[in-house]
Amino acid sequence: MSWAVGTQCVTKKDHTKPKCGELLYHKGDLITVLNKTMKEGVYLSRHNTTGEEGLINATDLKERKAIQETPNLSLMPWFHGKISGPEAVSKLQPAQDGLFLVRESIRHPGDYVLCVAVSAKVIHYRVFYHDNKLTIDHQQFFYNLIDMVEFYSKNKGFIATRLLKPKPKTGTKSAEIELSKTGWLLDINKLTVGERIGEGEFGAVYAGDYMGQKVAVKIIKCDVTAQAFLRETTVMTKLQHKNLVRLLGVILNRGLHIVTELMEKGNLANLLRSRGRWVVRVGQLLQFALDVCEGMEYLESVKLVHRDLAARNVLVSDNSVAKVSDFGLTKVHSKTSDNAKLPIKWTAPEALTKQNFSTKSDVWSYGILLWEIFSYGRQPYPTMNVAEVKEMVEAGYRMEAPEDCPADLYSVMRLCWEQEPRRRPSFQKLRHKLEQEMSQNNTSPAACSRRAL
Ligand code: ADP
Repeated sequence: MSWAVGTQCVTKKDHTKPKCGELLYHKGDLITVLNKTMKEGVYLSRHNTTGEEGLINATDLKERKAIQETPNLSLMPWFHGKISGPEAVSKLQPAQDGLFLVRESIRHPGDYVLCVAVSAKVIHYRVFYHDNKLTIDHQQFFYNLIDMVEFYSKNKGFIATRLLKPKPKTGTKSAEIELSKTGWLLDINKLTVGERIGEGEFGAVYAGDYMGQKVAVKIIKCDVTAQAFLRETTVMTKLQHKNLVRLLGVILNRGLHIVTELMEKGNLANLLRSRGRWVVRVGQLLQFALDVCEGMEYLESVKLVHRDLAARNVLVSDNSVAKVSDFGLTKVHSKTSDNAKLPIKWTAPEALTKQNFSTKSDVWSYGILLWEIFSYGRQPYPTMNVAEVKEMVEAGYRMEAPEDCPADLYSVMRLCWEQEPRRRPSFQKLRHKLEQEMSQNNTSPAACSRRAL
């Protein structure tokens, strides 16, 4: 076994009495491999939580693998959709006590049915919607089916037996098992949830602590949305870069908890609006632009399209490093999309009209993001509504340079807004241009203090 520097691993067992130079760890801790040592199979590593460095034996580690594209990965493998009562009965044979599935009610559209085997028979419990919550007995109420199944797995409550064994729908894989096998399932008992720090479209975001590490936790309660977000999460397991917000893992408990590194300074749009031009100097703006560009260059290199690049989706760490976040719309190059949800002011014309998303449509959005950065978080096309933007941009209109924006930077924006996608520069090229600009501006990362914000 040989691991590259930076490989993320999970420990397979406890090592609580380390000898001099060795690392202390518990089973399930996250470790970053730093270097090979002279001794075969021994690595210098860093504990992701304590930050301590020390030696560790490779046999105590398993690598965290990216979750491969599995469209059938399900948070609810026991959910069989619209099948009839008799079909459910035949699926639950042999009718072992506690074997169960959930189906959509055919007779009462919108309701569900929990089917459980007990004493060689199958009992069907109707699950009603009541005040936006689910219930079987009008005593226990649940936000979603996952919560309900979890409750009756632990408590018999009103039903004839506890739910002991899910009957998976053919062709689905349990997300829980897959996440756990690949090392991305975290333990709810090790998480402390603190104050609410943001509100996403689908769920609130909280600051928290996971085994001593500061984290952000996005909690998605609705099971259908959680299922959709599972895709976002599987994409994130494949991506590692200093300018992409890092996923620590997920927790399946009352919906989905997505645990990422905490970006203490929040989103870039808010940061620039609140600090303004007297606090944030041009050098720092350039540095933010370069940070995002590097993150996007990495996405470009793995052929992933972000589709929702904007200052609100860039987060800033405690030491003022900007990282791209929100891979909700990220997809491998594809032509399909849901037009209604597109962020019009940020989306390239060919993506709006022909759903033609590509790295080059991300470059267009990056140009808008540059405009946001150099205007200190202003809303793009400030005086226009989205319908006007669509029409005017198609006819060739482009935004003016933000106040006091360096001329070279505005030229970069204009390149990103070339009508023809192939005439727009790649992110690699954009990075070179920004680096040049930084050196002309005499702004090396060392010269511009990121911490001062
Ligand atoms: P949306 O679902 O609207 O795309 P998110 O749920 O990703 O938005 O985030 C909403 C807000 O929560 C962000 O704008 C940001 O202020 C905050 N936030 C999200 N993730 C983090 C994080 N890792 N660290 C700090 N703040 C975060």
